[in-house]
Amino acid sequence: MTDDKDDPLAGAHIDTLAIRGGIHRTGEGEHAEPIFLTSSYVFDDAAQAAARFSGDEPGNVYSRYTNPTVRSFEERMAALEGAEAAVGTASGMAAILSVAMALLKSGDHVICSRDVFGTTVNLFGKYLAKFGIEVSFVPLLDTQGWRDALRPTTAMLFLETPSNPLCEVADIAALAQLARDSGALLVVDNCFCTPALQRPLELGADIVVHSATKYLDGQGRCVGGVALGEARHMDEVQTFLRTCGPTMSAFNAWVFLKGLETLRLRMEAHSANALALARWLREQPLVEQVYYSGLEDHPGHALAARQQRAFGGVLSFRLGGGQPGAWRFIDGTRMLSLTANLGDAKSTIVHPATTTHSRLSPAQREQSGIADGLVRVAVGLEDVEDIKADLARGFDALSA
Ligand SMILES: *Cc1c(COP(=O)(O)O)cnc(C)c1O
Repeated sequence: MTDDKDDPLAGAHIDTLAIRGGIHRTGEGEHAEPIFLTSSYVFDDAAQAAARFSGDEPGNVYSRYTNPTVRSFEERMAALEGAEAAVGTASGMAAILSVAMALLKSGDHVICSRDVFGTTVNLFGKYLAKFGIEVSFVPLLDTQGWRDALRPTTAMLFLETPSNPLCEVADIAALAQLARDSGALLVVDNCFCTPALQRPLELGADIVVHSATKYLDGQGRCVGGVALGEARHMDEVQTFLRTCGPTMSAFNAWVFLKGLETLRLRMEAHSANALALARWLREQPLVEQVYYSGLEDHPGHALAARQQRAFGGVLSFRLGGGQPGAWRFIDGTRMLSLTANLGDAKSTIVHPATTTHSRLSPAQREQSGIADGLVRVAVGLEDVEDIKADLARGFDALSA
């Protein structure tokens, strides 16, 4: 937001910025945001080329550095997250990698929630470790564990809340305080809530990362990511990107810009459908436990109600009968998409123990509460009665 009197968006609300933020008109009178599908840019004269290359004159040089459509997406995202700056990336993993490469160095230590996206665990545990960055994994809700893991070299705390697939809710403000007290940066992967439901920077986080592939797109079309935070940090991330290359494509940025226009409405509808489904699932005799922070008896309910605007679209539930039962249930459904993706208008269903969490040993899965009978649904925007009807087919298959 800006207080510039000439800016028609000065003081505008977030819902307006999601639709009108970051637009730069070309002069052709276009209404929708233009896509700049160009790899490079031309200069007026040799002196301008020299000034652009030296950085003396701001402006576009090459789309690995900057692209106007990507910039529009970055400005709109920054407005939504309340960030000073944003950097679009080729994927969610590219956002996390770029933040780590730009802001960590050999000898630094990272504390990472055990309950983050599996590939994030591999990135820290396998690749960054090769370059002398040490990582400790702690259970998301183990406040003392975070404290005990601190070292003088701890430079970053990394977490995701709510967690996948059990909807555990971490206290962002408390962990931000811990990070501040120990001189480390708190990085929050805000993929599951999006800024429509949760704004970690307002709660004291230093950096937010997203997989734009999920709810920011919202219709399962493009892969992308974004990092957000103070300009001094994002300048470093941007420099890493222009040097190493995992930049966002202009076309994908355009798709994400259009996705952001409906983000708030979609997130509220995903959340309403998920809550209705969670309440219905709890009544089903074959369901042992439902994990959704919108249910009043979920341990994270009060914190989620405070920290989030709604409870999000992802829930999971445990069936008796272990893995064979869960598979029979999933194979009994016919409308839901069997895929590990989420954040789509189409509801998806997956068996975490043998897909998203299969890299964990049985003991680790047990520790993390990923039971063999657990099923995750990323609730889409179909009529919730039809989602229930499809899950009812799963229950029929289970009791047959
Ligand atoms: C999907 C996902 C990622 C990785 O994003 P990509 O766009 O697939 O690279 C990171 N974090 C979370 C929470 C995710 O769901």
